[in-house]
Amino acid sequence: MGTKIEISNFNSWLPDNNKPIIISGPCSAESREQMLETGIELSKNKAVSVIRAGIWKPRTRPDIFEGVGEIGLEWLKEVKEETGLKTCTEVATTEHIEAALKWGVDILWIGARTTVNPFSVQILADSLKGVDIPVMIKNPLNPDLKLWIGAFERMNNAGITKLAGIHRGFHAYDNKPYRNLPMWEIPIELKRILPDLPVICDPSHISGNRELLQGVSQKALDLSFDGLMIESHINPDVALTDASQQITPANLAKMLDEIVIRNEFGTKDFELKLSSLRNDIDDMDHELFNILSRRMEKTKLIGDYKKENNITVLQLERLRSMIKERIKYGENLGIDAEFINKLLMLVHKESIRVQTNIMQGK
Ligand code: PEP
Ligand code: MN
Repeated sequence: MGTKIEISNFNSWLPDNNKPIIISGPCSAESREQMLETGIELSKNKAVSVIRAGIWKPRTRPDIFEGVGEIGLEWLKEVKEETGLKTCTEVATTEHIEAALKWGVDILWIGARTTVNPFSVQILADSLKGVDIPVMIKNPLNPDLKLWIGAFERMNNAGITKLAGIHRGFHAYDNKPYRNLPMWEIPIELKRILPDLPVICDPSHISGNRELLQGVSQKALDLSFDGLMIESHINPDVALTDASQQITPANLAKMLDEIVIRNEFGTKDFELKLSSLRNDIDDMDHELFNILSRRMEKTKLIGDYKKENNITVLQLERLRSMIKERIKYGENLGIDAEFINKLLMLVHKESIRVQTNIMQGK
């Protein structure tokens, strides 16, 4: 994918903070007191640099609390003045953007339900032309990396370079034990394609409950995410939205204390040892490929032989017994059965493709 996006350094819009960036605050702004109390508590924690609050809430069904509206931006501004925390909120319409800019919100974010819709993202990008404001873009609800990247491109085309991604998990019918499946390979691929893009994780919307929060946060930081966005509320149990996943600022501080922050780079000795171990891995991968190539040659011979004798490519009984035998063999070597199964199915699929081509004289 030819993706070229101009991305400003994270430090150009969050200058005083080291990685990981911690953004916290309520799912929804509910009252002036709730916002001030939450903000003051959060600001006691030096790790927290930005307060979040939803002002307009995208709800699954109508006639329930849909956010306090513009008055919430006034509270957010007051929190900023009181605590020095930077502020951020979700915008989904041009009216939201106008109001957020009017009240001096520092950072905007695009929600998952908006990122799915290129029309909406384009309208937001158009209304941000000529505005110098950081925009964080949550992944779309569905696991579509191109759609996510497309949203960054639309913002970039409108002149926005202060960009960050927020990984908040993906909607799935079978999502247990999560609220939204993390599917870590997608944000990792995003980072591979756009190495300069800061990507933070939103463990709250991945988890959907307090119990999973710490593990998901630790995992994100172990995977070198640049920060976390975690929902917090002064009294989570009575929160008007997402009550089960919000935590108090005090519990947030406890959780952050327990999280291990690992370094991306080590000492010289460490790097030397690591590079020697990696050399071993490189050699082994080459060995693996040599064997795979020899295996494929045999597969072709068998394909020719089947063709000569007019025998079908797919031999289910052979597949079954092979998987059974290999799982046993591999497990004795300490290899996970599920992994062996997946690997064999992949190799078998390729064999079937090659032998089908032989049958068709390709
Ligand atoms: C939120 O951050 O409160 C929110 C609505 O998130 P998402 O867009 O990830 O569902
Ligand atoms: Mn929420």
